[in-house]
Amino acid sequence: MSQRQLVKTACQLCVAGCGMNVYLEDGKIVKVEGIPEHPANLGRLCPKGAATIQYVYSKDRLKYPMKKVNGQWHRISWDEALDTIAAKLLEVKEKHGARALAVCIGGIVLYSVFPGVSLLRRFLDVYGTPNYFSVDSMCFRPRMIAYVMTYGNFSIGNPEDAKCIILWASNPRASDPMRAREIERAVKKGAKLIVIDPRRITTAKKADLHLQVRPGTDCALALGMLNVIVSENLYDAEFVNNWTTGFDKLAEHVKPFTPEEVEKITWVPAETIRRAARLYATTKGATILQGTNGLDQTTSGFQSARAVAILQAVTGNIDVPGGFVTPSGLRLSPMRLPEMVKEKAIAEERYPLAYQIWGRPIGEGQGMVLYDTLLTGEPYPIKAMIIQGSNPLLSWPNSNKLREALGKLDFLVVMSVFMSETAELADIVLPAGTFMEKEELVDIYWGTFGIPYLMLRKKVLQFEEAGADAELWLELAKRMGYGEYFPWKDTGEVIDYVLEPSGLSMKQLKEEMPSGVMYGSIQYGRYKDRGGFRTPSGKVEIYSETMKDLGYDPLPTYREPIESPISTPELTKDYPVILTTGARMLGNLHSQLRNIPKLRKLVPEPLAEIHPDTARKYGINDGETIIIETKRGSIELKARVTEDILPGVVNVPHGWSEANVNVLTFEQPGDPISGLPTLKALLCSVRKKP
Ligand code: SF4
Repeated sequence: MSQRQLVKTACQLCVAGCGMNVYLEDGKIVKVEGIPEHPANLGRLCPKGAATIQYVYSKDRLKYPMKKVNGQWHRISWDEALDTIAAKLLEVKEKHGARALAVCIGGIVLYSVFPGVSLLRRFLDVYGTPNYFSVDSMCFRPRMIAYVMTYGNFSIGNPEDAKCIILWASNPRASDPMRAREIERAVKKGAKLIVIDPRRITTAKKADLHLQVRPGTDCALALGMLNVIVSENLYDAEFVNNWTTGFDKLAEHVKPFTPEEVEKITWVPAETIRRAARLYATTKGATILQGTNGLDQTTSGFQSARAVAILQAVTGNIDVPGGFVTPSGLRLSPMRLPEMVKEKAIAEERYPLAYQIWGRPIGEGQGMVLYDTLLTGEPYPIKAMIIQGSNPLLSWPNSNKLREALGKLDFLVVMSVFMSETAELADIVLPAGTFMEKEELVDIYWGTFGIPYLMLRKKVLQFEEAGADAELWLELAKRMGYGEYFPWKDTGEVIDYVLEPSGLSMKQLKEEMPSGVMYGSIQYGRYKDRGGFRTPSGKVEIYSETMKDLGYDPLPTYREPIESPISTPELTKDYPVILTTGARMLGNLHSQLRNIPKLRKLVPEPLAEIHPDTARKYGINDGETIIIETKRGSIELKARVTEDILPGVVNVPHGWSEANVNVLTFEQPGDPISGLPTLKALLCSVRKKP
């Protein structure tokens, strides 16, 4: 009889990093279940995690490296693939300079900080290119920077202990089911719940208040709430007086944003704005859970996040139970060598906050500028790209333009678990290992939970010739003569090097702490012990001198969406409906997992959500195929006529190759500070397919 073996590891089918017990027989996974003692999931797995076996053993997986010859794919060995890539990268550097290489990674790779991203960043530093991009070009980077600009640290909402929770453009039942359970537990204990979303998501139906905001106007709504809080003296005067700068200027700034004025902008009734502001401000231990990118992908994305940060501050909900918290970090060895990069990234001057704050390096490029750079060669040519764990042709805006832009490259390598639209364009495709096929550190503080908990993701099996994303950079470094900067034999040695200052080791994590370890704690009021916040003033910077010096509005300012009935009335004549996109679905992750049968059953096809009033206006019935068109192009998909969306708005899911909504969107930066595109509020027309 075969022996059953148990390996404790962490799921990576989203960023939550849930603990997973994996049972193997004869080296094959036969069962997966949640680890009961793991704080992220407490023994549960969501449908994605539960579908792990189908995902890992999918017949669609890439099994070996391939090279394109005369438009046809040919199997090659890893040695040939790595030698070819190494030689090409050295040639590009010699002919065009190091900056002619750009690397772009997707969300799953992004969260494999150690060793994955850290090895990648070190490789790029040694090579000498500043052109590193990730999915953050259109995700939650603006929020992280805005919070740091305001508090000096990135802080995270702590709903478990909250007495009032605002879910702002966030639908954790679809995007983050473990967090949804945390919220449900808080509500059971009596927490009040406010949902702000143009869609009546399931959670909104049970909320104390639902504010159905016009897409793209959240910043105005936040300013309206601040108006109520300031004018009715609902702020925490003690905290504001002792620990903030610029409150007086804020008070003046929000005066015009009366609930009545804000109702005209946001379509949220004035009285509902008042009720939401009062409920939030008068409940100590309140937290705003901002969706992953619901506010970010708007013309006021960065300033919306600043407004949210200020709401938390003026109500005294910083470093208190149930408010925003900053857990203690783990001490790890730094991996970057930024001093080796001598050139500027392609948009460094346009988006300075993406690169550094107060001398603290970030070094993340804004990928939306890649389109025109690839097409025009300005400010300088990018000749080669490596894309890891990402399918930008489906998940990034303006797919047609991006296809043309990627076509200009001399050399494209894509590393992916499955063949994808982007991988089809590549010169070389590398088979990526899933989370069952690599060793990584999983720190759920940096995931969505804000809990200082560290676990080692274990290598459970080897699938065909699939390789770990981190190994690519180690192997290329060896072949390109960078050995002195990469003295490690394998990624395990890298993990030990990284862990050294923490006093932990990979062996310990594997053998003594297989389910993980709580390495720190959440301490409240830490700013008092530290003598202030990590900002230049030592206080929460409501009015930001740094923003002013950079030429930005020092207080959060609302900007109307780039396309809207107000900003572009002429365009509205032809495209009268607001298009919003990017809402999450439980059965997939952006462009991934639609080929997994169990998950496809949950979401069989893309559906455009449209309100009955809007549907009637355009003669559309539930289930009929409709055509949605913007200035950029058109797609066809079925309509789902539902009361659960604001009239005048159509919600189209992303990531579907059969109805790619990104044919309709565009990459033009809507938010001048972060450069993010405005995927949450564009204009379109809808009509029944003849
Ligand atoms: Fe995996 Fe995310 Fe589901 Fe947890 S919530 S089981 S990490 S997909």
